[in-house]
Parts: sequence; structure tokens; C-alpha cells
Amino acid sequence: MSEPIDGRMLIGGELVESRTSNWLESVNPATEEVIGRVPAAGPEDVNAAVDAALGAFDAWAGLSMTERAHALRGYARRLQEEGKRILDIEVRDTGNTIAKLRHDVASAVRGIEYFAGLGTELKGETIPASADALHYSVRQPYGVVGRIVAFNHPILFAAKFGAPLMAGNCVVIKPSEQSPLSATVLAEIVRETLPPGVVNIVTGDGAGAGVPLVRHPLVKRISFIGSVPTGMAIQRAAAEVAVKHVSLELGGKNPMIVFPDADPDEVASNAVAGMNFGWMGQSCGSMSRILLPDSLYDAVLERVVAKAEAIVQGDPAKEESGAGPMNSRAQYEKALAYIQAGIEDGARLVAGGARPEGPGFERGYWLRPTVFADVTPQMRIFREEIFGPVMSLVRYRDVDEAMRLANDVDYGLTASIWTNDLSLAMRAARDVRAGYVWVNGVSRHFLGTGFGGFKNSGVGREECFDEMLSYTETKTVHVRV
Ligand code: NAD
Repeated sequence: MSEPIDGRMLIGGELVESRTSNWLESVNPATEEVIGRVPAAGPEDVNAAVDAALGAFDAWAGLSMTERAHALRGYARRLQEEGKRILDIEVRDTGNTIAKLRHDVASAVRGIEYFAGLGTELKGETIPASADALHYSVRQPYGVVGRIVAFNHPILFAAKFGAPLMAGNCVVIKPSEQSPLSATVLAEIVRETLPPGVVNIVTGDGAGAGVPLVRHPLVKRISFIGSVPTGMAIQRAAAEVAVKHVSLELGGKNPMIVFPDADPDEVASNAVAGMNFGWMGQSCGSMSRILLPDSLYDAVLERVVAKAEAIVQGDPAKEESGAGPMNSRAQYEKALAYIQAGIEDGARLVAGGARPEGPGFERGYWLRPTVFADVTPQMRIFREEIFGPVMSLVRYRDVDEAMRLANDVDYGLTASIWTNDLSLAMRAARDVRAGYVWVNGVSRHFLGTGFGGFKNSGVGREECFDEMLSYTETKTVHVRV
């Protein structure tokens, strides 16, 4: 057994405890054992972190793009070198499988390198608006950015601050209290590689640390990854204090729209992969609603059930484990409640639905990959994000009904379309109300292509140049000549 982790926050280049003297314990969701603790930040810690960021801002924004890129690349290198250490912590803290989590550090590193290379693209414009003046615009940083992130990809979300930093901002990051331990390694790496105060990390819960960060009058730019209710609470709280730029990456209830010419084997494999059972469904882009025509329904159902039942669940630290436990008791109980709701609402439970049996599963937040058939739009499991390993199969009669069902939820994050009929694919891609659409694909993110949601799934796009622009304000200058 590894030593318990005694975490610290990073404020102004110092690794510190909280001024509240309180701590948050973190448990291994596979065993329910306490594996470490982090400081439980309060408003005074947040104020100190914002002060540190403000103190560092002029010097950081005053660097050339080359100097900022150089610093960020040094940080990314150290992040990569510490990948193994982070992975060991992250597997125990989240319950996500090692095979899946390995990609998160690599993705964070790639994201930093991508933005480090884009600095000089933050161009303004010259505008021929009049004959007697030079009109031009420049992009300037906001100052301090508050970044509050979700529990499911902790290191990826906390570590990928390339866009705000390259734009010249300093940041205060608040990781999730559900899986905060890797942030302590991140704090060490940042301390070693970036000037004090440029990146600050405050650990704590939403009320103690999140709310004061959102309400801080000098934090003009907030970027948030998390649930719809919290996103809405953040918009409200921010608006009570000042006019702020708030971007929101929120939840999804994503449809996989399968057309009749699709191959049932390929559809079933991709439905199971797209549901992200390897993350126990705790990934925002998961395909939780599979919309199937009558002609394919039974063939896909049979194959999906076989594949879901074949997933080998076990110790997430083992390479061969196809799924681990859920991240927390709260997530586990929420998923169980939705399974109960599915049964009560009349859906047909065809796989999973309960804790796995046998040794190793007595404690912890274990739940078998779950599939419901005959799900209809009135059911809660059709409409609401579960953020658990629960897939719904839905039957449709014609293309119009398929598109109506796809769009008949308040979310609009991702969608996946399956057909080789080019016109049909293009029509469905045009009509689906989602921010990120795959045709004959699922799950993959492509750096440089904007990720984010329509409808209640969010505001703004990440992982692309637009993300970097969103951390700047445009200033227009008129020079009389
Ligand atoms: P959550 O909304 O419960 O918490 C997210 C973060 O907000 C945490 O750090 C939490 O401490 C903080 N927080 C909570 N209340 C707050 C408040 N009132 N003010 C400020 N901060 C507050 O979400 P979660 O359970 O951690 O994450 C799961 C959700 O995130 C799902 O809905 C999922 O779909 C979504 N998500 C979206 C994306 C995306 O890119 N669109 C990516 C990952 C997760």
C-alpha cells in the first residue's frame, strides 16, 4: 500500500496549507479507504491566490510570446516526466482504469504544446474605416482567470491552462474535491517551472473555494467544466458581483443516431466504446442514447448486451481491467437511483443494473455496465444526464422521428451519426443540435477542433484557437494621421 498523500495548495509560488486549517480527505473508490488529504480552502485562501495572480500579471503579460511559450514548454516537459507518478495517484483517486487514464497526461501535454505554438496568431486587425485615421485592434488578456473543473479527468482539466497563459493571463485553478490528489503533484511541477503567482491552485469544495473565486470582483474571466446546475449557479453568482465573461463546458445526454444501412457489429462496438464504460460513463461526451431503426434494433441490442456483459471489471490499476468503480458514493448512488427510475418508468433492463459479484467487490462503488432497452422520451433515463454506466436503446420509425428524438432533450454536447449515405449523414449533421458531431465515429477529440455544447451543454469552445481568443478582450485604437 502506498503512503497517504498529504497535499498542499500553490499560492504565490509557495506550497501551503489552508488558512482555515481544515482538510478534505479523499478515498479510493475501489476500496473506500482514505488515501490522502488536501487543504480545504476558504475565502481567505482564494483572496490570497487572486492577489498572487494579480501580483504576477504585469510581468507575465509583459513577456514576449517566445518567452511565454518557452516557459510553457518547460512546464509541459516536467508534466510528462511526472506522468507515471500522477497516473498512480489518479488511478487510486478516481477509480478510472490505468489504460484510459494514461491518455490524460499525454493529452494535457499536447494541449499545452499546441497553445504554446499559437502565440503569434493572437493578432488584431487593421480596418480601413476612414481615410484620415489608422484603425487597428489588439487583443489583451483579462488579468486573472478563475478555472473551476470537474472530477472526471482531474489532471487533464487542471493542467491544461495553455490557452489563458499564452494569452497573457494568470490563473487560479480549483480542482474538484472528489478527486483532488493529483493537483498536489501539479502544484509541485508548476512551482518548479513557472514564475510565482502565474498559476495558483486552491483545493476545496464548491462552497468554500468555488463560490469565492466566482464572486471575486477582480476575477473577470471564469471558465468552468462541470454540471448544468453548477454552471447556472456560477452564471447567477458572477452576475451579482460584476460583469464577467463566463464560459461553461457542461453535461450531455448524447445521441448516437444509427441509420438502417449501418453494420450492426460496428454499431454495437462503437456504442459500447462511445458509452465510455471504461470511465464508468463518467465522461461528458458519452453516447448514452442509442437511436435505432426497427430493422437493426434486435441485432444491435443482442450485440450490445453481449459486449457490455463481457467487460472485465476489476482493480483499475491493472492493465487488463476494462472498467473500475464509480468515482464517489454520490455518483454511485445517483446511478443506482436512475436505474431504479428506468425500471419504474417501464424500460427493460437487459444488462447489469447491480453491483458485480465476487471477491474484490465487497466494498467500493462498483456497478456493472448497464443497458436498458425500449426506452422512450418520457422516461427520466432518456432525458436526464446520469453520468454513470447506463446506456439506453431507443427505437425510431423514420428519419424525421430519429432527428426529433435526438434533439428532444435540454442538452446538446455531442452526437454520433452512423451511415454511409452521404446526403443523410450531412443532413443529420446539419440538423442535430449538438456542438461536436462524429459521422461514423465516437469519443475522439481532435486538437484544434472546438469542443463544447449547444443548448444547456454550455457556452464557448475549448481545445481550439477560439479558446485562446476567449481569454482576451479586443481593444480598438483610432490614430488620426
Ligand atoms: P459539479 O458541477 O458538481 O462540480 C464541478 C466543479 O464545480 C467542482 O470543482 C466543484 O467543487 C465546483 N462547484 C460546485 N458548486 C459550485 C458553486 N456553487 N460555485 C463554484 N464552484 C462550484 O460537476 P462534477 O460532478 O464535478 O462533474 C460532472 C459534470 O461535469 C457532468 O455534468 C459532466 O457532463 C460535466 N463535464 C462536462 C465536460 C465538458 O467538456 N462539457 C467535461 C467533463 C465533465
